[in-house]
Amino acid sequence: MSKRELKNTEISGPVLNKRESRRIFLRKSVAAAASVAVFDLRFPLTGTDSAKSAGDGETSWYRQTTRWGQTNITEKDPLNYDISWWRSYWKRTQIQGVIINAGGIVAYYPSKVPLHRQAEYLGGRDLFGSLCKAAHEDGLVVFARMDSNRAHEEFYKAHPEWFAVDASGKPYKAGDLFITCINSPYYNTHIPAIMKEIIGEYHPEGFTDNSWSGLGRDSICYCENCKKSFYEKTGQEIPARADWSNKGYRQWIRWNYDRRIEIWDLNNKTTRDAGGPDCIWAGMNSGSISGQSRSFRDYKEICKRADIIMLDSQARSDADGFQQNGGIGKLIHGLLGWDKLIPESMAMYQAGRPTFRLSAKPLPEARMWMFEGMAGGIQPWWHHVGAYHEDRRMYNTSGPVFKWHRTNEEFLVKRQPLASVGVVWSQQNMDFYGQDSGEQLVDLPYRGLTQALLRARIPYLPVHADHIGRDSDQFSVLALPNVGILTGNQVTDIRRFVEKGGGLVATGESSLFNEWGDPLTDYALADLFGAHLNDFADTLPGKKLLRSTNTLHTYLRILPELRGRVDGPENGTEPQITGKRHGILSGFDETDILSYGGLLHQIRTESGTEVLLTFIPEFPIYPPETAWMRVPKTDIPGLIIRTMPGGSRIAFLPADIDRQFGRYNLPDHGNLLANIIRWASQDKIPLTVGGSGLLDCHLYVQPGRMILHIVNLTSAGTWRQPVDELIPVGPLTVSVKLEKGVSGKNLKLLVSGQVIPARATDGWCRFEVQSISDHEVAVIT
Ligand SMILES: [Zn+2]
Repeated sequence: MSKRELKNTEISGPVLNKRESRRIFLRKSVAAAASVAVFDLRFPLTGTDSAKSAGDGETSWYRQTTRWGQTNITEKDPLNYDISWWRSYWKRTQIQGVIINAGGIVAYYPSKVPLHRQAEYLGGRDLFGSLCKAAHEDGLVVFARMDSNRAHEEFYKAHPEWFAVDASGKPYKAGDLFITCINSPYYNTHIPAIMKEIIGEYHPEGFTDNSWSGLGRDSICYCENCKKSFYEKTGQEIPARADWSNKGYRQWIRWNYDRRIEIWDLNNKTTRDAGGPDCIWAGMNSGSISGQSRSFRDYKEICKRADIIMLDSQARSDADGFQQNGGIGKLIHGLLGWDKLIPESMAMYQAGRPTFRLSAKPLPEARMWMFEGMAGGIQPWWHHVGAYHEDRRMYNTSGPVFKWHRTNEEFLVKRQPLASVGVVWSQQNMDFYGQDSGEQLVDLPYRGLTQALLRARIPYLPVHADHIGRDSDQFSVLALPNVGILTGNQVTDIRRFVEKGGGLVATGESSLFNEWGDPLTDYALADLFGAHLNDFADTLPGKKLLRSTNTLHTYLRILPELRGRVDGPENGTEPQITGKRHGILSGFDETDILSYGGLLHQIRTESGTEVLLTFIPEFPIYPPETAWMRVPKTDIPGLIIRTMPGGSRIAFLPADIDRQFGRYNLPDHGNLLANIIRWASQDKIPLTVGGSGLLDCHLYVQPGRMILHIVNLTSAGTWRQPVDELIPVGPLTVSVKLEKGVSGKNLKLLVSGQVIPARATDGWCRFEVQSISDHEVAVIT
């Protein structure tokens, strides 16, 4: 493409009302399909024929395709879809794969499967076929996109028994459409028939599905298929209502998860049987664990099976920030492995809150989401809704980002993360401990703890509780952010980690519940915490007492108190220090109290432990005259620390400081958490970064080199989304602990393009980065 053509394409959008021209395709010879060298691919992309026969994992198309694009076709688009324009856009954005709407709710090709309704404006044409052919001619792989979750009234009338119904037999609907039941022949035969038809006609490389997992947790289906299946599996009736304390409801939750895994396996068997071993079905999955829970998608089980995770997570929320994208990339890689890919649908339109499907997302906002994802091991995938847009600015967003990705791809994939802190999570904890309060009980503590690590520039990795035994050797500390549920095996693995000298930081109600979310009489990890809660079940009216969502006017007292400053230094009075404070409390010398906001149980501590914070009960805020402590001091512990005979350091915070930090963002809470993690890690954190700003630092290793990806969140953290101006930070002074085989003498920056000096001494590499606007990647060799 000439410079002038490129310029023209950038200014214009796809041409409206231009009939797709079949002549384009007739002119293309079949030989052109083999000509995949449209781009200078770093990893050779298998052609469409060889892709299907590869089947050896490492070289399969789904391990090689790192840049994706998707024009999510609306039913009106067949009239206006300008295929030649979109082909030029594929080329300009240097993508290697496309996701093309094929079938499900509506078909974008002339389907012969009964009741598979054509898109309203398709008019008998074959839009999917034309696009699939064009993509293959251009050397791109194709995911045929399904949306198999609901259907029109005509379908419902033909097969009412295939649809989800409430207890009174009334069908569940979404707008005009009827929701299909996950246990019905719709999923067992209808969807497989469509996929076989598509494979036979068009040979896409694989399939995705926008909403493959059926009805979510909020609605219970009472159709005959469900009743029969649930009774056969459990000997019980479908529960009458959501009730987490009911054994039948808990079994219903598990049974729903199992069915989704059956569907995953069935769909993969269908596509592989019909299309060859590499014709995979990849569904789509969420970037939120609570979202996965509400949809009965067990991430661990899915990742065991998946060859690639197609991540449907398009924008940040104000609560999570861009950092959520880097975090979820690392979390999923922890389950999937770092040798596989996680492309993510990245909205070029204003996604999130609010959503405007046809307006361009502000450029800095879109870029930050993409770069933060890449920093966490995610691959870019532009996503437009509709094939024609009057806001043409959205067409200029992805080009430069994808170009940078292609140039630097070798540093962005096939790498291992480095972190000394493992943050434990599990979906079981989200389900049965979080129940209907997952945001409060699970998300907030996790977000608070990881945000504290991010602020302190301490690299961390999410670690699934079932993988502690497998993965924890790389960590110096395990953190349990209010992980209420730990199974017997998980507890055993944590004990082994501590016995080997690892540090442990746990908060709130960690290890206080069994696998179904029933409270125990004491912490399962009480022996490590050196703390006991013997009377928990007896004395509390309900297990939710500590989980107040209100802001409580409570505090923590710092021990020992440093009295004497009340006289004030202006009087010449030196503070009379009554005791030496622990290093964990550094930075708090000028205060004897910290804001808290929660409640605490009475806890009995063992000898050999040290209590550094105690609880100050609630007292009034209003009117100001009443705002004085009624009980200024208690012996209820908020933070207990101990050093085990083997040297392991353990900190237990009955005070859920992480949850409070997630809620209120008070720097004291973040600083305290960072201090505790540093202490427990015994100086084994492999990175320090000095200089102002909120930075998300991701550290990786590849053979012979290390990679530090820094994302500048300073601007974005200043105020609500979307960000529309990036404020550079710098200079930053960086020290990286060198891995074996890396000399630390050479350093280049992949964004600014600079080659800058580095000093390697005592096993550390030290250098300075002058300025970072959105992100920077330092490659150390
Ligand atoms: Zn049903």
